[in-house]
Amino acid sequence: MPARILDGTALALTLKERVKQEVRALNEKGIFPGLGAVLVGENPASNVYVSRKEAACKEVGIQSKKVLLPENVSEQELLEAVAKLNADPRVHGILVQLPLPAHINGHKIMQSILPEKDVDGLHAYNQAQLYAGKNALVPCTPQGILHLIHETKIPLQGKHAVVLGRSLIVGKPTAMLLLQENATVAICHSKTPDLRAYTCQADVLIAAIGKPRFITRDMVKPGAIVIDVGITRSPENKLMGDVDFERVKEVAGFITPVPGGVGPMTVACLMENTLLACKNQTLLQKPSRKIVIGVAGSTKGTDMQALIDGIESKSLNAQIGLVCSDKQDAYILERARKHALPAEFLNPKAFSSREAFDMEMAQRLRAARVEIVLLIGYKRIVSKPLLDAFPNRVWNIHPSLLPAFNGKFDADVHQEVLNAGVKLTGATLHIVTEDVDKGPILLQQAVQIEENESVDSLKQKVQAAEMEMLVRAIREYSQGTLAPFKQESPAMERIQSEALQ
Ligand code: NAP
Repeated sequence: MPARILDGTALALTLKERVKQEVRALNEKGIFPGLGAVLVGENPASNVYVSRKEAACKEVGIQSKKVLLPENVSEQELLEAVAKLNADPRVHGILVQLPLPAHINGHKIMQSILPEKDVDGLHAYNQAQLYAGKNALVPCTPQGILHLIHETKIPLQGKHAVVLGRSLIVGKPTAMLLLQENATVAICHSKTPDLRAYTCQADVLIAAIGKPRFITRDMVKPGAIVIDVGITRSPENKLMGDVDFERVKEVAGFITPVPGGVGPMTVACLMENTLLACKNQTLLQKPSRKIVIGVAGSTKGTDMQALIDGIESKSLNAQIGLVCSDKQDAYILERARKHALPAEFLNPKAFSSREAFDMEMAQRLRAARVEIVLLIGYKRIVSKPLLDAFPNRVWNIHPSLLPAFNGKFDADVHQEVLNAGVKLTGATLHIVTEDVDKGPILLQQAVQIEENESVDSLKQKVQAAEMEMLVRAIREYSQGTLAPFKQESPAMERIQSEALQ
């Protein structure tokens, strides 16, 4: 009896219909799944694949965004394009169409995609999850293969499965999925001697080698499920699979055709993965973890009050692990004690050097399990021991964007700003490097100065801006998406030049 044909085109339609229904339900909740596709160069086959994926998005109602880059794009530019998609909340899935030009490190590019957006399942995190049997985002072709096998309704448990090909995109992940369903799996490749000895024992045979009509009738066990993944174009531009379909279908139990088998399922599974990624990023959003902040300050502690208010109102998912202050300012300690926060008085004069003082401070902050050290109005230059203990995690909050006021924080900076008659001031949150005032900027916000503005109202406005930035920075930090922008950023220059007008 000839084999039953496993119709990938029909199954893909059913799958896409299911995705479409779910997308519609999400739309009603105001959620619009999105896929970002990056295409480098003019490879005609890649062009066709990306167009097919875009068409499938349209069919199921997924928003698609195509990023086209020239063949000679640099690795850095491509990394930046991926970073933009990573940061775009409208994009839930990212695919970078392979192959990439030879001058680009494909592995590096794949690892730069956020794992939760990696709908091709090629990020090391997703591969490790699959290996551990805790599937996150699984590569699309293997997933499509499993859907096709499930159509046969034959349980895989105890079956002998043979996978020809060991690529990261098809062979290996397919073997993992078959193993998860309790098949006994052999993976064969170009160095496997006597391939036929394996294929003839296979209850399930997956051919993914890219050698047209390589699997002949005599290599197939009668009644086997044969899945043909291979795609090769003949000189007449005809698509050919790895299996001699016409002859093998006479002995196999089930067989996929080429075209119309695995190919359409790959695209449908990309839709399924994008939907899954979107649901994970929107519906299942985990609460961000609580960040322990250390506060070091020597001002009157008004920002510290704002920080405490933020934590108390739960707009900040953080806790204060330790407050350190020197004797110049007892206010900050007073406030800490009022709120029963762990606080320590540390007098720099009691130490032989600034380094020794910072070493002690770092030790106390570490003991309090502090993750971020926030300097509040701290004009003192921080030394290496503290920066080494908290690399990129010593943050300083500046009450003014005006370069003219650098180093004048002992005076009332808001009064100075008003005296200067400027229209704009603001706040900057930056990572401290060797110099408190010159680290990379994390966030900044401008504050408009009204006619007849009073010091008090300006102070409140600047503090509100600081609070907003702090909440955002801590939230983004806990989600791993906080990226410092460069010191010489156009935003910074624009704000500063406006401020000085
Ligand atoms: P690949 O990275 O080139 O891997 C091919 C694998 O086949 C390698 O592991 C190779 O062994 C093995 N191989 C080559 N010649 C062999 C032989 N004579 N005997 C045994 N093993 C042999 O290719 P891939 O990306 O996995 O893709 C495989 C095929 O599937 C291609 O035709 C591709 O176009 C097609 N494909 C189709 C879809 C779809 O949606 N339908 C998706 C992806 C790929 P070594 O490791 O020892 O070199």
